Amino acid sequence: MTPVATFFRNLEAKCCAACGQAMTEQAESYMTECFDCQEKASKDAYLYYYSKR
Ligand SMILES: [Zn+2]
Repeated sequence: MTPVATFFRNLEAKCCAACGQAMTEQAESYMTECFDCQEKASKDAYLYYYSKR
């Protein structure tokens, strides 16, 4: 494996799974979505949860 391939592999792993936006280095490695999408998703889940009651 070449260093270039490793670079792009890492770059791809740091893109948001929801919007495809490149994630910052501060993002935790286990996160697959950027902060905006996570916040949006958690808000949607919150609204969905309370709309069910
Ligand atoms: Zn995103």
